[in-house]
Amino acid sequence: MNDLMKPENYSFTATAPSNIAFIKYWGKRDAELQWPANDSLSMTLSACKTITTVKRIDGDRDVFHFAGVTVSSDVEPSHKVFRHLQFLRKELNIARALEVESRNLFPTGCGVASSASGFAALTLATVAALTGHHEWGQLSVLGLSRERLAHLARRGSGSAGRSMFGGFVHWAAGQSADAQKIEQIAPASHWQLADIVVILSDKEKHTSSTNAHQAAWGSPLFPARLAGAPSRIEAIFSDIKEHNIESLGQEIENDALEMHAVAMTGTPQVNYFLPETTKFIAWVRSERLAGNLPAWFTIDAGPNIHLICESRNVALITAKIKSTWPKSQLIIDKIGDGPTLKQGLLSESHSEVHYV
Ligand code: ADP
Repeated sequence: MNDLMKPENYSFTATAPSNIAFIKYWGKRDAELQWPANDSLSMTLSACKTITTVKRIDGDRDVFHFAGVTVSSDVEPSHKVFRHLQFLRKELNIARALEVESRNLFPTGCGVASSASGFAALTLATVAALTGHHEWGQLSVLGLSRERLAHLARRGSGSAGRSMFGGFVHWAAGQSADAQKIEQIAPASHWQLADIVVILSDKEKHTSSTNAHQAAWGSPLFPARLAGAPSRIEAIFSDIKEHNIESLGQEIENDALEMHAVAMTGTPQVNYFLPETTKFIAWVRSERLAGNLPAWFTIDAGPNIHLICESRNVALITAKIKSTWPKSQLIIDKIGDGPTLKQGLLSESHSEVHYV
């Protein structure tokens, strides 16, 4: 066997989708252990994804190429990537330098959760490169079940844990950092939902999610948010079970507005809304009340709006947005099946999401 054929020299490629939270993860009880203040629940996306290839290299320095550019370990915020490689090596007890190549098929750092897809793909491809295994069953035999992989991913970026599964995913905070659970509550086939992402700005956010999580504890509204979280989780569980889009929509809008109210009243105050964000959500509500728009909004840590709707209504809603907001840029995405992992590079080509 020549050197290139040795399993330890293979490269491994993971694709991981972003996810859109219906109940947001906001505030951490323990930043080091990534223990969230409340349960969160999300829908895994399909087109908005990251592709990451990792291989072992000689030497003692990791190399990271992002979107074709080699990034140094001391540049914020990429140091998180290098820190995560360190963490994974320690967890697996395999000390090898790695070369990572990654790209996102959608805009980075503006509230479409590239950190979720980015750290899920990084975790998967790195674990495969370190262990030499890429099949879910083989990894599970090594103690790396999908849930364990989700917990490893969340240590890089909290919401990345939810991107380890497809469909609808619940991240339970539990009574202690060790008691957290991340699990799929229903597969993508359960309910064909779509996410129309309205890109109002693709500039990177002014305040990182990490800093905003910290600021939440200073908000007088935060205790009320935490007190209401368990009943909202219950409500969304039954909405998903019963395919109740109206009730689900109300819950996700309330959750997003509540999260942003906490951010805006935090210490320091963090405002992710642009004037256009407010205008757009006012329009969504009035059109819906008029019976013209069967869609409900949610907004992550950024100015951009996600409109959640049933897939059969995407064409109608897109046409409606375009006729009122002709300059808007939309990404049409939908519920998806979760990450993939393979040996080598991807054979099929994956193009960037296109704007409608
Ligand atoms: P977003 O709303 O896109 O999640 P964040 O600021 O929360 O914005 O996260 C963006 C950060 O996530 C980036 O600055 C980078 O550290 C990380 N990230 C994004 N894409 C990748 C990737 N493909 N691989 C590794 N890390 C990534």
